[in-house]
Amino acid sequence: MTFRRLRILLLLGVLAAAAGLTWLEQTMVRSWRAPLDVVVIPINGDGSPKAARAIRLLQASDFDDINAFLEREIERYGVKQSPAIRVTLLPELKQKPPAPPRDGSVLKTVFWSLQLRWWVYRQSDSRLPQLGTIKLFVLYHVPQGNVALEHSLGLQKGLIGVVHAFADPGQRHQNNIVIAHELLHTLGATDKYAAGGMPIYPQGYAEPELPPHLPRHQAEIMAGRLVSRAGRVVMPPSLEQCVIGAMTAREINFDEGFKRRFGSAD
Ligand SMILES: [Zn+2]
Repeated sequence: MTFRRLRILLLLGVLAAAAGLTWLEQTMVRSWRAPLDVVVIPINGDGSPKAARAIRLLQASDFDDINAFLEREIERYGVKQSPAIRVTLLPELKQKPPAPPRDGSVLKTVFWSLQLRWWVYRQSDSRLPQLGTIKLFVLYHVPQGNVALEHSLGLQKGLIGVVHAFADPGQRHQNNIVIAHELLHTLGATDKYAAGGMPIYPQGYAEPELPPHLPRHQAEIMAGRLVSRAGRVVMPPSLEQCVIGAMTAREINFDEGFKRRFGSAD
C-alpha cells in the first residue's frame, strides 16, 4: 500500500469514528434515561467590566429554572425525571468561539461548524467534556439600548451551544429562555418562528388548539416568543411561561425515549 493510500484510509477511519461518536452521543442524550450533563462556560462577550462582574457573580444555581422548566415539561409528556439536567458552571474562558459566517452560505457554514467543533475540542484539555455532555458557551454583553445581540445558536453535532446573553442580573430569566432554546437545538429541536420572530402557527404556539389570533400567555420554547394581547411579538418574562410543544417533543425524541421506558407505543 502506498503512503498516499494509507493516509486516505486513516482519514476515512477518523471520519468514520467521528460519525460513530456523534451517533453514539445523540443516542445517549436523546434517550431521556438519565439527567443530561450540561456544562456552562461563561465568556466576556464585550470585554467590559460589567460583563466581567456578572461572570464573577455567576453560580450554577442561576440556571435552576432551566432544570425546573425541563422537569415540568418532561412530566407533561409522561415521565418524571428529577433532575432533568445537571449543570456544571466552569471557570470563565478567555477566548471566543469562531464567529458564524455573515452571509449564511452553505459551504461557509459547514466549514465554520467544523471549525467550531475543532475549537471546542481544543478547549477540552483537562476540564471539558466527556462524551454526551452538552457544552454551552455563554457570552455576556452589556445591554446597549435597542441594539440586538448576535444570534445565539445550538448545534446537534458536537452538542454545542453558543449563547449571547445580557450581563444584567435583571435579565437572568430571559437569558435562561435563550439558553434552554439553544440546549434543545443540541438535542434536535428546530426553530418555530418565521422572519421577524413571528411564531409559526400551530407548532410555534402554546395551546395550538386555539386559533392563532387569540393572545397567549405562554410561548413555545422553540419559537421563544408569543403574540401578546396588543398583537406584539414579545418574549415572555421567564421559562415559567414557556412550554415544549408536541412537534418539539417529537424532535427531541420524547416519544422514543418514553416508549422504551414504558414498553408501550402510546
Ligand atoms: Zn433557534
